[in-house]
Order: sequence, then C-alpha cells, then structure tokens
Amino acid sequence: EARGDGRKSETIKVVFRVRPLSSKEKQNGCKIATIVHEKDGVIEIRDPSGSEGETSKTFTFDAVFSENSTQRHIYDVCAAPVVKSVLEGYNGTVFAYGQTGSGKTHTMEGVTSNMSLRGIIPNAFEQIFDHIALNGSYDKYLVRASYFEIYNEEIIDLLAKSSPRLELHESDSGAVFVKDLTGVVVKSVAEIDNVLQKGKKNRSVGATLMNAESSRSHSIFSIVVECCSNDGQKEHIRVGKLNLVDLAGSERQSKTGATGERLKEATKINLSLSALGNVISALVDGKSNHIPYRDSKLTRILQDSLGGNTKTVMCANAGPADYNYEESLSTLRYANRAKNI
Ligand code: ADP
Ligand code: MG
Repeated sequence: EARGDGRKSETIKVVFRVRPLSSKEKQNGCKIATIVHEKDGVIEIRDPSGSEGETSKTFTFDAVFSENSTQRHIYDVCAAPVVKSVLEGYNGTVFAYGQTGSGKTHTMEGVTSNMSLRGIIPNAFEQIFDHIALNGSYDKYLVRASYFEIYNEEIIDLLAKSSPRLELHESDSGAVFVKDLTGVVVKSVAEIDNVLQKGKKNRSVGATLMNAESSRSHSIFSIVVECCSNDGQKEHIRVGKLNLVDLAGSERQSKTGATGERLKEATKINLSLSALGNVISALVDGKSNHIPYRDSKLTRILQDSLGGNTKTVMCANAGPADYNYEESLSTLRYANRAKNI
C-alpha cells in the first residue's frame, strides 16, 4: 500500500463552480442561496429558512468560478496545468463533483458543437494534439484513449465490441489495472473526439438496458500519452496518463426514498464518493501513512494518478438556487474537506 510522505500535497487543487440559474428557475422565482466572491476565492451560502447574517457560511477554495466564468477560463486554471504535466510524463486527474444538475457534464464536456462552450475534455484534446503538432517532428508520440464507467462497483468498457464488463487486476508489482480495457490509438482531435462520441452513445444504451440513469455512474475518459525522444545517443520514453472523471451525482439518496436495488446502488455511489474524499484528504493532509485506495473501485483504478508526483484537480459544482441549499452545502463541505489548508 502506498504511503504518504509526511508532507502536505502541493499538487491537489480544489475549485468550486456555481452555475447560473436556469431559465426555469428564474421563471419559478427561485432565490439565490449560493454566492461566489471571485476575488476572494470564497463561496458564501445562506440558509434560506433562516434570517440573514447568522445563517451565512463561507468556504475558501484554490479558485472559485461564478456564472460569468467562461469555459476557457476554467480550462486554463483547472485543466491546462494537469495536461501540461501529462505531456511531460506524469499522471493527472480532473474530477467533476456535485449533485445531478449542478453542471458536472457541462464542466467536463460542455457543448462540443460550440467552440466557446466546450468543456475540459474537448479542450484537453486540443492541447494534446497542438503540443504534438509542435513537437512531433523530433519526438514520436503515441496517444491511446479509453472510456469506461463504474456503475454499482462494476466496470463497464464504453468502447468494447463485446462483453463490456471488466475486472480489476493487480500485477506482481502491485500496479492495479482494468483487464482487457479497450485502448484506441488516436492520431488527431477528430479521431479522439469520435472515441468520445462513440462511448457516449454506448453509455446511454447501457444505462437504458440497466434501467439506470447515467447520473448514477462515474464516467472516466483516460488518455495515455507516450513520447519517445532521442537525444542523439539514446531513446527516452515518457508516459503520462490523464483521467477526466465525471462523477456520479452526489445527492443523498436516503432523501429520494430509494428502496431495493436503487438503494443498494445509491449506497455504492455514496461509498465510492466518500472513499474518494477520504483518499484526497489523506493525501492533502500528508500526515497519514495509510492512503485508503482499496476502499472503492474508483480509488483503486486511479491509485497511480492520485498522490505522489501526479496532479489532481477536484472541481466541485453547485446550483445557486435556494432549493439546492442542502445539497450545495453538502458539496461545499465535501470539497472543503479535500482542500489543502
Ligand atoms: P450534471 O452533469 O451535474 O447533472 P449538467 O452539466 O448536465 O449537470 O447541467 C445541468 C443543466 O445546466 C444543463 O442543461 C447544462 O447545460 C446547464 N448548465 C450547467 N452549468 C452551466 C453553466 N455554467 N452555464 C450555463 N449552463 C449550465
Ligand atoms: Mg451529467
């Protein structure tokens, strides 16, 4: 089991994004409960049932984003440094966390057909292949993409031609990997975008077959970048892996009245999200010499991309409206725990 090195991690960033009120929320006259103070890096949340002042809480993050922040700005702050270090041969992970409807998928994918609304995933494609276009004449690059989801602690390959259910394996050296996971070699933005679209289609088909919504699974788009450079004497190979993770909705299921299979499923979602929170806070804290990677499939799979010399960004998302108060507060608390303070 990996151990903390006793130092606080400098490589985990926690940021918070609050989406705008939707037009429906505006129509319904929803009031704002969650306010972004961008310059101070602070999120303020007010209990709509209480009187003002005494019921306001504030949380500080590495960066906070209001409804006015552009997708590009969020990319530049959150993801570009991670992608840069992946191109240098390190691993990195970007997570989107939050309740269903808070803007996770908007942050990770955005609207792919609209340049200015593209999210982190398509912007990462662009950065990777721009870098290769610049450096590819003297270094040789190989890019492979995988796309899978974790649903009910089961791993489902979204690019598989057959038998999408996969198992976790551990090599003799202790490295954890998904056995038989499809890795598609891609040579351009268009090719890797095709992989994303194909996986997304499988995702919705799978969800329908299993009678589930995609908001109940974690989806992970992984890009492995291999670079072979030659200094005239010998070859050097660097390998970096980027994981772009759209987490399952964090809403507490006890409130939704789930029973039977649904409740079992909900318990597993809550378990893996809290396992992730525990891993990140143990890494950030740096004092614990036990990082509990083993507690969920998600953290086991991402073990080689969390901690050590990897970069991690947790982007927590929330809706601003008063009826989201409880969930937004719980997202603020989750993100706050993961923070380096
Ligand atoms: P989630 O993936 O967390 O369930 P979505 O990303 O699907 O949430 O967002 C829910 C809705 O809100 C979508 O219609 C999305 O387009 C919209 N939305 C989310 N974030 C923003 C934003 N920052 N600006 C504009 N619309 C947004
Ligand atoms: Mg979503």
